[in-house]
Amino acid sequence: MSVDKDIVCAPDDRLKVECAPIEKIDSKVRSLAKRMLKDMYEAEGCGLAAPQVGELVQLVVIDVDYSGSAGKNPYVLINPKVIAADGPERAFSEGCLSYPGITVEVKRPSHVIVQAQNLDGDLMQYEAQDNLLAVCLQHEIDHLHGVTMVDHLTPGERVAAMRDYQEAVALGARPGETSVE
Ligand SMILES: [Zn+2]
Repeated sequence: MSVDKDIVCAPDDRLKVECAPIEKIDSKVRSLAKRMLKDMYEAEGCGLAAPQVGELVQLVVIDVDYSGSAGKNPYVLINPKVIAADGPERAFSEGCLSYPGITVEVKRPSHVIVQAQNLDGDLMQYEAQDNLLAVCLQHEIDHLHGVTMVDHLTPGERVAAMRDYQEAVALGARPGETSVE
């Protein structure tokens, strides 16, 4: 399936639900991770959460190192938990494959520690500070709890962002595009 058809775009109730923990890492989970990585690279995103492809389970994929010619360094996080989110808040211009055509300024804690299982079932710990990974971890894990980037905005900012989003969609914005030329 092409990435355009696979990605769930807002507004959609599947982006607003608490996702179920994964109990068994089986071939279904492995093929979901593979499909999500393919979509993420195709759309040139740095992360993707399972509800964004309509699967309401706690799985995210992230690659903050990939930029076309650079090598791939994918992380697959199963049942990720934010152990700490602290440090001074930083504003970062975020995009989301489920909101094609827009970026929004979101403030988040600058330091984060996350624990998650990998595809082998090993418990991994990720720590990030003041970088894209710190933002990406929080953005993607939010998706597993029905929270998207616009939920972090003030009501006024959200209205403006949704207006921009509707205009972008009307102009044909597709997942992975953060502005429409
Ligand atoms: Zn997103």
